[in-house]
Amino acid sequence: DSRPNLATSASRLPTMTDEANPPRVVVGGAICDQGRLLAARRTAPPALAGRWELPGGKVEPGETPDQALVRELHEELGIEIEAIARVPGEWPLKQDLVLHVWQARLLKGEPQPLQDHDELRWLAPDEAFDVDWLDQDRPAVGAVMEALTRP
Ligand code: C5P
Repeated sequence: DSRPNLATSASRLPTMTDEANPPRVVVGGAICDQGRLLAARRTAPPALAGRWELPGGKVEPGETPDQALVRELHEELGIEIEAIARVPGEWPLKQDLVLHVWQARLLKGEPQPLQDHDELRWLAPDEAFDVDWLDQDRPAVGAVMEALTRP
């Protein structure tokens, strides 16, 4: 019998959630300056407004993650940054988005809430969890603060 075994070949087909449709990456920047971490309070959408995040956004087709971070932080905060290293880990978001976090160094400018945010705060290590972080950002904040305070 040379007919293909449908059950076996179907199991080899990519599913909607893996090869056919990889999650889109959102990059968040853990911007550090003088031992402090920048937190930004979101204005939208309503479900996230008022919560704090590591500012960033979606990587566009053709961009590397660090290019996307440089672009987003220039648009949103008016600053120039340099992406230094990815913080290990990834955190699933709604729909087909996944959050990656990069540690970044402030090169130029004083951050201003130009777009998407209405307040910014520089947090010292002992203030790291004084703001109401988005759930998905919290583990990355912990990892970054640990790196900042390591002797
Ligand atoms: O900022 P932007 O709207 O482009 O981000 C896309 C999505 O990524 C948002 O829905 C937001 O929930 C999520 N996000 C996040 N943590 C961040 C940055 C963005 O969960 N630090």
